[in-house]
Amino acid sequence: MTAKISAAVVLAGGQSLIPVMNLRMGHPAALVDVCRIPELQQLSMTPDGSLHVGAGVRQADVLADREVGARWPMLRRAISEIGHPQIRSRGTVCGSIAHADPAAELPAVALALDATMVVRSRRGERRIAAEEFVLAPFTTVLEENEILIEVVFPPAGADSGWAFEEFATRRGDFATAGAAVRLVAGAGAVIDCRLALFGVGGRALRLSEAEEAVVGRPVDEEVLAAVHSAVESGLDPSPDVHASGEFRRELAARLAVSTIERAWERSNG
Ligand SMILES: Cc1cc2nc3c(=O)[nH]c(=O)nc-3n(C[C@H](O)[C@H](O)[C@H](O)COP(=O)(O)OP(=O)(O)OC[C@H]3O[C@@H](n4cnc5c(N)ncnc54)[C@H](O)[C@@H]3O)c2cc1C
Repeated sequence: MTAKISAAVVLAGGQSLIPVMNLRMGHPAALVDVCRIPELQQLSMTPDGSLHVGAGVRQADVLADREVGARWPMLRRAISEIGHPQIRSRGTVCGSIAHADPAAELPAVALALDATMVVRSRRGERRIAAEEFVLAPFTTVLEENEILIEVVFPPAGADSGWAFEEFATRRGDFATAGAAVRLVAGAGAVIDCRLALFGVGGRALRLSEAEEAVVGRPVDEEVLAAVHSAVESGLDPSPDVHASGEFRRELAARLAVSTIERAWERSNG
């Protein structure tokens, strides 16, 4: 992240922005602390069963909420993997998604759970699917003067299964690779599958070939082998100091297989 930040910018938990400023990589003219705006601190469930997480809601608050944990267990599991308690006690859910680190857990969870971003500016409000929100590393569709005011997670049906796994060199580090799956099953077969992989490209991504290998069938050895090869052929991760591209690709394929298997077990298929 080398771009200079010059105008007023949103300060949420500061767990990414403050390091950027400390490293003199960003020079905001002013900071707008969204965690001090009461309206943005809403963590609520609406009658339709959706979960609304406002821009000022800390990751730790979501982690501590029992009802959220019971209904959106993937969210709880993923947040528990973010850094350390000190990071989660300041960092926000929306801040992590707006920051769009390709190795971050929450943009992938938003993708797997088909979340919607609610974005507001003086020009009005727009709703953006998680699928379309992140464009590239640390780059989203947010325009100047737009704020992500909340992320909305749709209700999870009783017939759905989930799984979230990541591999990191040390506990609390960013993941070398990770996978998040939400799978809907019925009558002994998968009806819908959303598999989001992270740490393996410029943003969290879905691989349609891997998802299509699962839909319409029960999850068995043959299906899992097809998922493995779809991920292997669909990814070309770059090497870095933590892992070679080949290692990351194989890791992602294995995580995809194990998360789909686990999500199937948890579903009512
Ligand atoms: C030591 C350490 C370890 C970490 N480990 C992990 C990890 O394992 N996994 C992980 O995912 N993250 C990790 N993080 C990052 C952490 O989760 C951050 O909290 C998160 O990336 C940013 O959220 P924040 O609320 O702190 O946002 P900030 O740092 O305040 O903001 C980050 C960026 O997003 C913008 N922004 C924030 N909120 C909004 C909004 N509502 N609308 C528009 N723009 C907004 C800001 O202007 C800024 O550009 C780590 C951080 C540290 C310091």
